[in-house]
Amino acid sequence: MRITSNFDSGNIEVLSINDGDIKLNIPKDTNSDFFQWFHFRLTGAMNKDCRISIVNAGESSYPDGWENYQCRASYDRKEWFTVPTTFENGQLIMECNPAYNSMYFAYFAPFSYEQHMDMVNEAQQSAYCKLEVIGQTVEGKDIDMLVIGDPDEEKKKIWVIARQHPGEAMAEWFVQGFLGRMIDDTDPVARRILEDSVVYVIPNMNIDGSIAGNLRANAAGMNLNREWAESSEDKSPEVFYALKKMDEVGVDLALDIHGDEAIPYNFVTTPEGIPSFDEYRKNMQDLFKNHWMEISPDFQDKHNYGVGTAPANLGIGSKQIAERYKCVAFTIEMPFKDNDDLPDPMYAWSDNRAVRFGESVLNPILHVLKHLR
Ligand code: ZN
Repeated sequence: MRITSNFDSGNIEVLSINDGDIKLNIPKDTNSDFFQWFHFRLTGAMNKDCRISIVNAGESSYPDGWENYQCRASYDRKEWFTVPTTFENGQLIMECNPAYNSMYFAYFAPFSYEQHMDMVNEAQQSAYCKLEVIGQTVEGKDIDMLVIGDPDEEKKKIWVIARQHPGEAMAEWFVQGFLGRMIDDTDPVARRILEDSVVYVIPNMNIDGSIAGNLRANAAGMNLNREWAESSEDKSPEVFYALKKMDEVGVDLALDIHGDEAIPYNFVTTPEGIPSFDEYRKNMQDLFKNHWMEISPDFQDKHNYGVGTAPANLGIGSKQIAERYKCVAFTIEMPFKDNDDLPDPMYAWSDNRAVRFGESVLNPILHVLKHLR
């Protein structure tokens, strides 16, 4: 019986393996104290009862994330199903009996660097879409941005950025859904959006952290979603170059895509506490949220972080963007657990559901577009 994690986004430390009794720890993010993301492979356990304990789960960054959480597993790395999981005495315990020799376990269905490259390189071949490299990560990897539609001063500028927190893989699944519709010539909502706007998409803000199997940090150990007030070219180049590009083209509407460890619902956070918050932003936010609720039962506005109070932390992406460009900006959060309004015991909140959810956001975008100032 063997546990390995030396692959894209793999992250686990083996403490002991005694027959089917497996004890593990989640290692910390690169140069950082955050930890929660895990991804590993179990082999040699076919048809054996196994009890896998993550011993340090209770000390992780978001221990509330383990209550009512179900671990995801896969045999083919495509279908990620839930395995019976409990959180007892600070340990996360998974019970399984593998049907095949190789079985993968992860905090959430991974979205690999290979998938990222396939997605952006395929998208650039659409007549609507161009790929631009806006800079390099701490480890020198390209930061890809997709520009959809013909750049034009007169058009509105819509931004979608995802995965500042690399362990929130659902964010890139969301982008896959969003992008799929945006470059589909048969999609009337996408076509209409592009009449009046240009869409800028950064599908993965934290490539280094994603490959390393981090929850929140980049390769320099920075939490990118706290770097927007003072980003630096060497410690947080991912934010530095995104902001540089935003300064260049402008922003009228921005969506920053995330996952939330504890809350079992999809929700948004809005920048109420920023100095320039006004009636316009409030009205646009309501228009957007109400329309999204109408067209997708997976979105709701009851369970969330509550309305932010001043002073807002301008190190957070959506708050900095809303203040800097006096525009409408949301942080979108999806669950690691499930959407308790529409639970799915077999898959919980999943890669496929995040794709559908990303597809659905085109409708509220179109709905607010004509009202953006
Ligand atoms: Zn996040």
